[in-house]
Amino acid sequence: MIKNLKSLKNLEDKIVLTRVDFNVPFNDKGEITDITRIKGALPTIEYLREAKAKIILFSHLGRITSEEDKKTKSLKPVAKKLAEITGYKIIFVPKNRGELVEKAIRILKPGEILMLENTRFQDFVDGKQVNYESKNNDELATYWSKLGDVFVNDAFGTAHRSHASNVGIASKMENKAIGLLMEKEINFLDKAVKTPESPFVALVGGAKVSDKIDVIKSLLEKADKVIIGGGMAYTFHKAQGLSIGNSLVEEDKVELAKALLSTYKDKLIVAVDSAYTTEFADNVPEYGDEVPEGNMGLDIGPKSIELIKNELENAKTILWNGPFGVTEFSNFSKGTNEIAMTIAEKDDVISIVGGGDSVAAVVSMGLAKEFSHVATGGGASLEYIEGKVLPGIKIFETTEEKN
Ligand code: AMP
Repeated sequence: MIKNLKSLKNLEDKIVLTRVDFNVPFNDKGEITDITRIKGALPTIEYLREAKAKIILFSHLGRITSEEDKKTKSLKPVAKKLAEITGYKIIFVPKNRGELVEKAIRILKPGEILMLENTRFQDFVDGKQVNYESKNNDELATYWSKLGDVFVNDAFGTAHRSHASNVGIASKMENKAIGLLMEKEINFLDKAVKTPESPFVALVGGAKVSDKIDVIKSLLEKADKVIIGGGMAYTFHKAQGLSIGNSLVEEDKVELAKALLSTYKDKLIVAVDSAYTTEFADNVPEYGDEVPEGNMGLDIGPKSIELIKNELENAKTILWNGPFGVTEFSNFSKGTNEIAMTIAEKDDVISIVGGGDSVAAVVSMGLAKEFSHVATGGGASLEYIEGKVLPGIKIFETTEEKN
């Protein structure tokens, strides 16, 4: 049993260290381009506020490998956005350890929210790459754990990693639980991977077979149909003996693709045509079942879109991870957008989308509400689907009965 937030009693006046996932994307003007992750954390923050806890928010943002990174990866704009969205005062401390932090916590009142600076600033200290946060440094985890009374982990996106701000703090604190978002993500993924209603159709896209081979294998065991698109489809096309021109291919995975195609003949479906052009650019595409020499396939074609629509027709559970084309180019976003629309239009179905670019497509088309669940953590959800034990969840396991 995983201990959840609602099982924690007497939060009033308690300092609750709350690990959220505010690793949001920014454009080059320094503006936040997608607030899905911030919104995802709101139920837990609201719950803690109503319980009159003193809320301390921890999050990482990007990777920190230089002093320069610290200038562009501060959580300050995220604190500002959170204040804008909620209308609450968010106290931002531009540090995550030391006197300033301790003082700010001492004067915090029940129901108030304080956000600390990017936890990964502890990866680069005094001009050195020390990775205290990312390598779960014991001293750092101990220090952070002593700042509060209770620990709540709501950052599903980092649950597959053992960092100081998730597993580290949790390992030092008795009074702890997963947050409401984390619980929701786990429940939805369980619906797909543990108790899926049939027909269960999984769609896997994205750049490389090698990144997603374990998840493909795992889904082939669990789903009724697994549909492959995106860059990774060309390794399968090559295995099928089709011409792929200069499309993305992983030569060392062609044999594996062949084996999967033969073992799962009726289950594994690969895109049947492509939108292609002569270079990696947002050109007007041509379409065909195969990609001619001198061209590269950058999206699925109309026949694949029809095929996918048919396969989704009677589906009761749909899991989608990864774009079916180069969504950075508008001319090659059609396949991904059509899939998003087809799934969004379906009623009476459990639909889960995960992975950065597919989620971005769903969000930018305003379709997020039409999905049962938009998973915030791409890597973590893939590992969960693969059946791996995620350290950021496991540490909250308890032998106590549910209360
Ligand atoms: P992933 O992170 O594995 O989900 O992959 C996302 C990336 O796959 C995006 O940057 C897409 O541009 C890329 N992608 C999708 N389809 C293709 C394709 N046909 N050729 C090259 N890259 C692709």
